[in-house]
Amino acid sequence: MCMLKKEYLKGKTLKSFDYNGVKVVYHDGVTFNCLPEWECYECCKTPADLNSGEYKILLNLGYSDFAYEIAPGIYKLRKENDACIFLKNNRCEIHEHKPVSCKAQPFVPIYFDFHSLKLVVAIEPQAYNWCYGLQAGEMDEEVLKQASKACKKLFYDRVKYYENFKNPHNAFLIAALSIPEKVGLISESPMKSLCFSCGFPLKMTETYDIYNAYPIKREYVEYKTALICEMCMEKLDEVDENRIVALKDSLFSNPRIVEYFKI
Ligand code: SF4
Ligand code: SF4
Ligand SMILES: [Zn+2]
Repeated sequence: MCMLKKEYLKGKTLKSFDYNGVKVVYHDGVTFNCLPEWECYECCKTPADLNSGEYKILLNLGYSDFAYEIAPGIYKLRKENDACIFLKNNRCEIHEHKPVSCKAQPFVPIYFDFHSLKLVVAIEPQAYNWCYGLQAGEMDEEVLKQASKACKKLFYDRVKYYENFKNPHNAFLIAALSIPEKVGLISESPMKSLCFSCGFPLKMTETYDIYNAYPIKREYVEYKTALICEMCMEKLDEVDENRIVALKDSLFSNPRIVEYFKI
């Protein structure tokens, strides 16, 4: 079995699959599967994170000293022989109970799209360097559904994690944008993470450039002390400094956000 290279994606169109409030974006002609009989455990070389619920389940199953706390409520699995402690003879010993971050592989939540009110999920671009499960072919709907479910859970975990340090609105924003650089911006000024004109959160990362044909990357320009999105660039004279505060408030009272993400 040979691994699919990133070059294979050149010229391929992007497809998306909507399920349960999640939009999975992937290239046409790419399929994914992960079968135990392949004995590929490349992603297990970097031990996964788990939440406190997953940690307790493993404790109750009789496992001990298998993880350490890296932040309140978030644990990292220990390493043994340069791989996850649960990797035994190229098999996952806790396959039935493996953490959601393992189940999601190689899909990751990219950001929450406030325009469509959906969590956008894509294949981690680096995965084309190590995941044998990415192949040429047609994507199976069940795989996409599983990826949606797992990434939504991961997203909830991120929100809960940031709630240890931030108020719920800012915790949600940080998780929704999912970019470390944004964390700095948000702690400096939550307003700088939103488009100064329309109030939608901004996204600025180069990592996902393979998805350039799709609006995963929302461009921005600096506008005085704030940032403004590409959609509003042409209407700069309409900017009203008071609007952003009202827009942020309305964002967090939107029933669809409250319902789906319980904030
Ligand atoms: S828990 Fe299982 S699937 Fe997850 S990293 Fe460890 S061995 Fe791999
Ligand atoms: S690298 Fe890909 S195929 Fe291999 S175990 Fe991880 S997800 Fe499965
Ligand atoms: Zn805007």
